[in-house]
Amino acid sequence: MSHEPALEGDTARPSDPSAAPEPAAGADFAHGADAAGGPVATQEQVEGLRARLEEILPRSIEDLSALVRIPSIAFPGYDRTPVHESAEAVAALLRDAGMPEVTITHVDEGAPAVIARRPAREGLPTVLLYAHHDVQPTGDPQAWTTDPFTPAREGDRLFGRGAADDKAGVMAHVTALRLVGEELSELGVGVTVFVEGEEEAGSPTFRRFIEAHRDQLEADAIVVADSANWAVGTPALTTSLRGVVDLTVTVRVLERAVHSGMFGGPVLDALTQMGRLVATLHDENGDVAVEGLVRAEAPAVEMPEADYRRDAGILEGQDLAGTGSITSRLWSAPALSVIGIDAPSVRDASNTLVPAARAKISLRIPPGQDPQAAMDALVAHLESHAPRGAVVEIARGEQGRPFLAPTDTPAMRLARSAFRDAWGTDPVDTGLGGSIPFIADLLEVFPGAEVLVTGVEDPDSRAHGVDESLHLGEFAKVCLAEALLLRGAAGLERRRG
Ligand SMILES: [Zn+2]
Repeated sequence: MSHEPALEGDTARPSDPSAAPEPAAGADFAHGADAAGGPVATQEQVEGLRARLEEILPRSIEDLSALVRIPSIAFPGYDRTPVHESAEAVAALLRDAGMPEVTITHVDEGAPAVIARRPAREGLPTVLLYAHHDVQPTGDPQAWTTDPFTPAREGDRLFGRGAADDKAGVMAHVTALRLVGEELSELGVGVTVFVEGEEEAGSPTFRRFIEAHRDQLEADAIVVADSANWAVGTPALTTSLRGVVDLTVTVRVLERAVHSGMFGGPVLDALTQMGRLVATLHDENGDVAVEGLVRAEAPAVEMPEADYRRDAGILEGQDLAGTGSITSRLWSAPALSVIGIDAPSVRDASNTLVPAARAKISLRIPPGQDPQAAMDALVAHLESHAPRGAVVEIARGEQGRPFLAPTDTPAMRLARSAFRDAWGTDPVDTGLGGSIPFIADLLEVFPGAEVLVTGVEDPDSRAHGVDESLHLGEFAKVCLAEALLLRGAAGLERRRG
């Protein structure tokens, strides 16, 4: 994920493992064949796969290290050569893992993506495995303990830019295919691996890409391996994502700037009026005060307040805003921020009354909230709270839908079962305060597909940050879970056309 640099690691650890939700009803069918969830592995098969994984894991970690050495940053202004290089490297790994059709392709000005396919036998389902091979810029490389593009092993962790986000996602797919690829071709299950090359740059051509490659990418279940697990030892499925709407509000009070000594008093300047307007957006507790917005059901897991304070860098001794659990404030409540203001800078400030000011307001919306309705509610609030003496003008901006995974479907039950077999413990359902806009695109272009958001990160991975790293023990479990999920996919229903 890229769009919220600070948010990717948001799904922190549970304060109390007993706070984990009860396993979903029907999740208990783990072993033996099951018509609803597909043939799942026996304990013996799980252990067999685990032993084989032990053998092949060192090679996967080597291959991951080789990918980390390629500085595949797809941001504008960066050399595109490494992005092409990393696409080539990923394509080679997928060919080597036995995928018969591997292509590198792009649309328009987009970065190269890799599509690898093994079509399903007639009537059998196809699983699409998503990851991205581009990475975030490093920031100041001097701030890193070791060079960001020289993978470094320390204890259980592999450090380097992309070691977790999301080259580990790529290698989880490759490793799962190495483990069960042959078995899948015997079973006739279709597998498509789609490795995007511009996710961190905001996936500028994603929608055009998936529309142009609809036939190659169409699937019954989509595994997006680009999120985080709850804690080392506790897997998670990211089942809720907030959406976002934004707008720009302009406050006008004067035809032109005038001398504050000559005219100040009978009129309030535009910045003061903007401040008064913005102050109406939250109540005295710090909850969003815009009427008509939805708050979703509180998550079953809770994050210790101390963890949130540390991760967010809350100033010592300062109160938090809002009510309800930390996770509910992060994942299931609306959150509103002023993300920019056009105003004279302090350096250029003169003794004049500022005639107009403009602010950009961003509203995160939880699952269950229609973006259009949220936008309308915010506009209505701003218009009805226009301070006396000020003209308020609004320009509506972007809208992105929230996401809530269905909890009790065959693919979800299969994923829970695979996670439980790999970790020995049930996965928890977590949310992300941020959005993953490309998930909305996937759901719109492939309405029949079910999307499962899994991840390779843990709370210490520092995706997008300095000293990004992957926990190798967790990585092994991710690979095993994915192999189990693929193996069980033969029993999934065909959902697409
Ligand atoms: Zn990512």
